[in-house]
Amino acid sequence: MKATKNKYVSVLDVLICRGLGYLLGNQKPMRIRTSQFLLAAVLMLACIGVVYFMRLVGIEGMGDIDTWAMASSLGLVVIYALIRSGISLRMEDPSLAFIQMLYAIACNAAAFIITGHGRGVALPILSVVLMFGMFGLSMRQVGLVALYGIVLFSGATIYALRHLNTDEPVGLFVAYLFMVFLVLSATTFLTWRLQQMSAYMRNQKNQIAAAFDKIQQIATRDELTGTANRRFMLEKMHDEVQRTQRSSSPLLLAILDIDYFKRINDEYGHQVGDQALQMFTTVVQNNIRTNDTLARWGGEEFIVLLPETEVSVGKVCLERVRAKVAEIEIPVSDSHLKMTVSIGLTQYCNGEAIEKTLIRADTALYDAKTLGRNRIVLANPCNG
Ligand code: GH3
Ligand code: MG
Ligand code: MG
Repeated sequence: MKATKNKYVSVLDVLICRGLGYLLGNQKPMRIRTSQFLLAAVLMLACIGVVYFMRLVGIEGMGDIDTWAMASSLGLVVIYALIRSGISLRMEDPSLAFIQMLYAIACNAAAFIITGHGRGVALPILSVVLMFGMFGLSMRQVGLVALYGIVLFSGATIYALRHLNTDEPVGLFVAYLFMVFLVLSATTFLTWRLQQMSAYMRNQKNQIAAAFDKIQQIATRDELTGTANRRFMLEKMHDEVQRTQRSSSPLLLAILDIDYFKRINDEYGHQVGDQALQMFTTVVQNNIRTNDTLARWGGEEFIVLLPETEVSVGKVCLERVRAKVAEIEIPVSDSHLKMTVSIGLTQYCNGEAIEKTLIRADTALYDAKTLGRNRIVLANPCNG
């Protein structure tokens, strides 16, 4: 019994979902447009309901409400069809906010003419229309809507005074018109303020995003060389270890240490030493792949992480790095400063702590130094 009930509920869910899909569309931008439109349409229908209510309670002087209601509803159907069919996508604003506004104000002005002694309701309705529509428009469009509203309601007032045999005093019409002017100018002003505020907030948001980027940069980059720093590399190692454990593709780790760097500082000064470090990182960066990560581990010691790399490929890549570093020449006084690098290379062994990998690479680096520097030493492979 319960199972059958659940089945009906899920069938109903599916039907509702499908129905909403047809009504609103399945893609998010379309859904936003159609649901905004439907909200405006519900408001318009509520206004039509109010006008019928006035006829029901016998407000005097009312005109052909049915034709007006039909024309207003037909307009809604046409706008919905344009949006839902995707035809409106060819227009500058696919939500047709501006057109909807012009249409709603025209219907409103027509309601002002045909609602007899009840025409005062047209004014709160105008406020509702403006409240809903103005914020989606550009400032230029808002100005045009305001002008259009004033022209239309002035025309409607003149028409009502000339052609309708009404016993309402002219002064009342003047008061209505004044209220229309007030509502339109107040909404225009509010929209202008709102747009100013949203521009200010957008600007603030951009500034916060830029500050965040900068903080991120400071936290993850080495100031002198611009490469990733130790903190970044530790995070990267953690991510890559996770990845390599999932995919079991080889992950290589190399420690690079500039040879006799102290001498460079001693002979040419710290500033030239800094320049050499910068030159060194540029050369390394230019000779590793985009997927590899270079980070300053400390002083003149760097780490290169090579994900998804076979040992043989990694060796070739680092051999190129070693050779290119040996080609560096920094002009100093009357000669050229040259440098070399020693490299300890190892592969991450599945399941081990990364610290163990680091120790292995460090030992290989030490061997490279003792073997005479300017070389790569590969640590024992995992199963060795
Ligand atoms: P080895 O071949 O054994 O590596 O010898 P080394 O001289 O390179 O090694 P050592 O560790 O003795 O010296 C490293 C030097 O790097 C010492 C330190 O002053 C220098 N150094 C560390 N960081 C910086 C930096 O940011 N700028 C400069 N100019 N020098 C630095
Ligand atoms: Mg060194
Ligand atoms: Mg060192």
